[in-house]
Parts: sequence; C-alpha cells; structure tokens
Amino acid sequence: MILDGKIVAKNKMDAIKENIDKIIDKYKFTPELRLIQAGNDEASSIYARAKIKRGKKLGINVTLEKFDTVSKDILIDKIKEYSIRKDINGIMIESPLPENLNFYDIVNYIPFYKDSDGMTPYNEGNLSLRNEMIAPATARAVVDILEYYNIKDRNAVIINRSPVVGRPLAMMLLNRDYTVTVCHSRTENIKKITENSDIIIVAVGKKNFLNESFVNKNSTVIDVGINYDNNTVYGDADYNNLLNNVKAITPVPGGVGIVTATDIFQNFLNGLNYQLNNF
Ligand code: NAP
Repeated sequence: MILDGKIVAKNKMDAIKENIDKIIDKYKFTPELRLIQAGNDEASSIYARAKIKRGKKLGINVTLEKFDTVSKDILIDKIKEYSIRKDINGIMIESPLPENLNFYDIVNYIPFYKDSDGMTPYNEGNLSLRNEMIAPATARAVVDILEYYNIKDRNAVIINRSPVVGRPLAMMLLNRDYTVTVCHSRTENIKKITENSDIIIVAVGKKNFLNESFVNKNSTVIDVGINYDNNTVYGDADYNNLLNNVKAITPVPGGVGIVTATDIFQNFLNGLNYQLNNF
C-alpha cells in the first residue's frame, strides 16, 4: 500500500485554510510569516519560494528577506525586531546557513510562539512534556501520516538521531504510546532491529539505503530522506523493490516532504492562535 502524502497534505491544507479564514474574518488582518535566508543555497531558495506559494493558497503573507552575506549580530537584531512586531506572526531561518553562522545560535532568539519551524530549544524540549503546540515540522509530518492512515502498530524504529527528525519524532511517538528504538551511524546490526519492528522511519540521506534485507512483509516504511541524483529526487528507501515486499510505504516525492511543507503552516497557525489569545 502506498501512503500518499499528497492526500494527507491536502486534508491539512483545507483545515488550516478554514482556520486562517476565520481569523482573518474576525481580526481583519492578514497574518505574516517572515522567512530569513542568508547565502545563496539553491535548494533553500526553492523551498522559500514553495512556502511563499503555499502561504498564498492559505491567505497568509509569506515574505522573504534575503542576505547574500550577513553577520550573526545583524540576524539576531532582525529576529529581535520581528519578535515584537504584531504584524509578523511567524519567523523562519532558512537552512543551510553559510558556514560563519550557527543555526542554533540564531534560532534561539525566536520566541517560541513565532517559531514556525519548531526548531527552538523551548519547542524541542516541550515535546518531552507532551506539549506539541509547535513541533519540528518533519516529525509532525511523520506522525500525521501514521495517524491519517490509522496505522495501529506501535513498535517503531527511527534511523536518525538529529534534532530535525529523530529526536523530536521519538518524543512524539512516545507521547502516542509507541515503543521506540532510535538508530544512528554507530548502531550495530541495524537490520536485526528493523526486521523486528512494525514501523521503520528512515532519514539517513542515502539513496537506496533501506532495501529488502531490512524489512519484513508487515513493515510500514516511512521514508524521510531527500537525495538528489541527476536532477531527480529520491528517498532513502529502495521504493520500487520495497513496494511489493512491505505492508505500506511512503513515496518520494509525494510522501513526507509535502506534509512537512504543510506542517510549517500548522505550527504557524498554532503560534498565531497563541498570540491572539495571549497578547
Ligand atoms: P543529519 O543531521 O545528517 O542526520 C542523518 C542521520 O542519519 C544521523 O543521525 C546519522 O547518524 C544517521 N546515519 C547516517 N548514515 C547512517 C548509516 N549508514 N546508518 C545508520 N544511520 C546513519 O540529517 P537530517 O537533517 O536529520 O536529515 C536526514 C535526511 O532527511 C536528509 O536526507 C534530509 O534531506 C531529509 N529531510 C527530509 C525532510 C522532509 O521533509 N522530507 C525534512 C528534513 C530532512 P549520526 O547521528 O551517528 O551521524
């Protein structure tokens, strides 16, 4: 079975739009998400443009502030300014940043309720207290797909331990009574763990990493990986070979990525509601 992210994303977009429409109607203003990009990474520019387009569909102003070169102090001053501006309701630092800048040194200055990417230490930490108001969008997307398709299995392995995917996702799955194993590059004999798990979430950034030898007929594979090869995008799973050898699998593209792009706006909406209710 194919776990189609496009359907999950469409469903979420409709629900988010309905909420945004109500807010615009009630408060008579157009909410804004401010993207800050430093450097000229091509993929980062593509993702920024996609967010602007998606924002338009939702009735949200998504504005991009781009710096070719910029210092840490200037970026922090910008974030401080946007933090207190009532007309800016979400702030995102596009990654990757140029080598002179550390993402977490800067993201730390975003107030938790404007952190549409869910990457501030406050929001990452809150997941362990079962507060998921704002969560890293990729982790939220994996949970959304499992919930939309009503996957009942509760034994999951995540191959990734980054703050973007594996760590927040482990917390979010624990919050839903999953039993979670987290693997990484130092884990020995990963196949022994994956072949005994119901759900395998893979995010190592290596095309065709997850092949038939990792799975069983009842595996559900959630492929988070994004790998470019000859201008074509691939996941981490050997999709064509796994499709008929597992119970369910997400495609790439059209799986986790498109739901992640939508979940940035779920975070934005949750943060916006917090602002409207508290300030
Ligand atoms: P990352 O920080 O480089 O993390 C990669 C993880 O994979 C690390 O935990 C690493 O282990 C582990 N790993 C690498 N090689 C391995 C191996 N041979 N065996 C087992 N584990 C291995 O990258 P990331 O930011 O988390 O992103 C991971 C992938 O997800 C990338 O392809 C990225 O493009 C994709 N991604 C997709 C979305 C989406 O929306 N679909 C969003 C974000 C990221 P160590 O910790 O030991 O190094």
